[in-house]
Amino acid sequence: MERYSHITNKTKREIVLLKARPCLWSKCTFCDYIEDNSTCTKEMIDINNQVLDLITGEYGVLEVIDSASIFELPKDTLLKIKEIIDKKHIHTLFIESHWIYHKRIQEIRDFFGIKTIVKIGVETFDDEFRNGYLNKNATFQSIQELKQYFDSPCLMVGIQGQTKEMIIKDMDILTHFFEHGTISIYRNNSTSVKRDDALINWFMHKYHYLIEDTGYDFLYDPTDFGVGN
Ligand code: SF4
Repeated sequence: MERYSHITNKTKREIVLLKARPCLWSKCTFCDYIEDNSTCTKEMIDINNQVLDLITGEYGVLEVIDSASIFELPKDTLLKIKEIIDKKHIHTLFIESHWIYHKRIQEIRDFFGIKTIVKIGVETFDDEFRNGYLNKNATFQSIQELKQYFDSPCLMVGIQGQTKEMIIKDMDILTHFFEHGTISIYRNNSTSVKRDDALINWFMHKYHYLIEDTGYDFLYDPTDFGVGN
């Protein structure tokens, strides 16, 4: 499992994949990320400390991810991140959280005390597909409400059942309302949610310019950030 990498093609930054408790929600129909979760606090802290010690601060920008939300990291790991931020002169931090924690986003921004870009797995702005089929439980009522808390939506492209119209609307919302975002191409996993290759081919052709846009990260494969497996 790779846990430390550099993103050099868009916003240059170091990225670490840390070990966390299981996702509080844990019910998205397309998700099988649970293999990297732990319930042993000591194991999580030890592994996370080893990874965090690799950070050099060379870009001044750090992204911290785990197979859940930032709030599922042990307290000791959050304190260690804060220590590294100070020691390595990190000025910008990327983190991620589920909507379920939206009322605590300001608390975590205040905790880190630097510019923090908070990502959220939206998958699609089509409410029925997101919360009905994908069971995401991201129940914001409007883009404005989402933006009150989060800076950067993560969108998924290429799921069977998704339509071109949904994706066009998603990309439209992303580019009109958000300076940052992540577009991920869906990869089949152990769940019954399947990939739509024809839709992906259409997307890759139509949105090639967006894939190159430096404001938006693009993951053709979930491991394209250089972490994970
Ligand atoms: S919020 Fe993320 S980690 Fe949790 S179940 Fe959904 S996709 Fe999986």
